[in-house]
Amino acid sequence: MSVCIIGAGVAGCCAAIQAARSGEECLLVEKSALPGGTLTTGGVACPGLFHAWGGKQVIAGIGWELVKECVELAGTSMPDFSAFDMNYFWHYQVPVNPVIFSCLCDQKFKEAGVKVHYHTMLAGLKRENNLWKITLCGKDGLYEVTADTVIDCSGDANAVKMAGFAVEAPGECQPGTSSVRCTGYDASTLDWDALRAAFYEAMEKGEIIPEDVGWSKGFSWLFLQRYGENANHIHFPADKWSTPEGRSGMEIAGREALLRVYKFLKKQPGFEKLYMRYVGMECGVRESRTISGKVTITEADFLAEKHYDDAVCYGFYPVDLHDDKEFIIKRLLSEGIVPQVPMGALIPQGSEALLAAGRIIASDRMANSAVRIQATCMATGQAAGAISALCKRHNVSTDELDINLLRQELVKHGAIVPEQQ
Ligand SMILES: Cc1cc2nc3c(=O)[nH]c(=O)nc-3n(C[C@H](O)[C@H](O)[C@H](O)COP(=O)(O)OP(=O)(O)OC[C@H]3O[C@@H](n4cnc5c(N)ncnc54)[C@H](O)[C@@H]3O)c2cc1C
Repeated sequence: MSVCIIGAGVAGCCAAIQAARSGEECLLVEKSALPGGTLTTGGVACPGLFHAWGGKQVIAGIGWELVKECVELAGTSMPDFSAFDMNYFWHYQVPVNPVIFSCLCDQKFKEAGVKVHYHTMLAGLKRENNLWKITLCGKDGLYEVTADTVIDCSGDANAVKMAGFAVEAPGECQPGTSSVRCTGYDASTLDWDALRAAFYEAMEKGEIIPEDVGWSKGFSWLFLQRYGENANHIHFPADKWSTPEGRSGMEIAGREALLRVYKFLKKQPGFEKLYMRYVGMECGVRESRTISGKVTITEADFLAEKHYDDAVCYGFYPVDLHDDKEFIIKRLLSEGIVPQVPMGALIPQGSEALLAAGRIIASDRMANSAVRIQATCMATGQAAGAISALCKRHNVSTDELDINLLRQELVKHGAIVPEQQ
């Protein structure tokens, strides 16, 4: 095996498709039953941002191909990117149907020749004789595969940590979100005053809490306006999230919140036909570990559009940290700024033939709240796939790889790479 990719979130999907299209034998390992990660199993299907100031496209490639095909198949429309306004940046994300997204990924894996192992989890890995010996856990127990390169797209830096390289974990974590899709009511016809009064009464009785239906400790109807998608906050202790008990506790807390909302709404006029029809199978995690990379993207560098000789993609999104005390901490990008992502942020310090992509790339906490966004995860995934393929093709290490070759490979496959100065 040339490359083994751990995790089929948006980063892993793009990494696998790119590596296979570049001619590599590639195995994609995913613990759940479908691709997409937070976009599908987490129920947050609004990837962004692909377009920047004046509507100029800054991220394309495999991620954009998937998003565009989803929109075309669904017959929905794209936002008007030319009207881009940083104050309303979220309006320029592209809602996609998560079911179609996962089906398209499978189709593209097949066409490109990606080998996929769903229902399989990474159990360990070690480097021996210039190869990764990877232990996986399938339904019948442990088995081994070997690969020249491993790309960690687990969202939690599991492979990097298991391989013994340093990772960073924040002392406190942004809340997660248990996402659902509701039907059976019309938000435009609701009696908001009556609902607010009923809500406060239920709150007094301890039947519901504000963060069940919104992102703040105050009153909010985000949940109803969004029909349940990405509209609550589930808290979990940062030091516990990676333990089986901590992670399970988070899932249970998410479903408890959904049940409270359901029971409350079912009693209100207008919700007689309320139906929770699609729940993200996992509580969406905004923040966990990042790698200690050769280069760390800092908030200051991100906001100042630091230029890197080894830039692999742009990462256009404001700093956007969901915070317990201050609600959401936002630092909008100044006019004209389009931040860059260097290849060094994808390489764990001191590692060999090991890459990381997606929300775990080396970045400080504030920068991470921007680069964790799906379009950027897709672009870093595609870059990691191309790096692994080129290193194999030219028999070089990541340090020796000619950045111009990488640029050419990415552009050949539709990606946008920042110009070198
Ligand atoms: C509530 C919420 C709202 C958000 N809103 C937006 C938004 O509106 N727009 C936007 O663009 N982004 C948004 N984001 C950010 C974005 O969705 C994520 O940061 C991004 O999708 C992460 O992609 P990823 O591929 O790096 O990781 P993930 O999506 O976490 O994918 C990791 C994959 O790896 C698998 N995996 C994990 N560990 C293992 C293992 N050990 N072995 C095998 N498989 C494993 C997982 O099952 C998963 O499929 C939001 C995130 C959250 C949580």
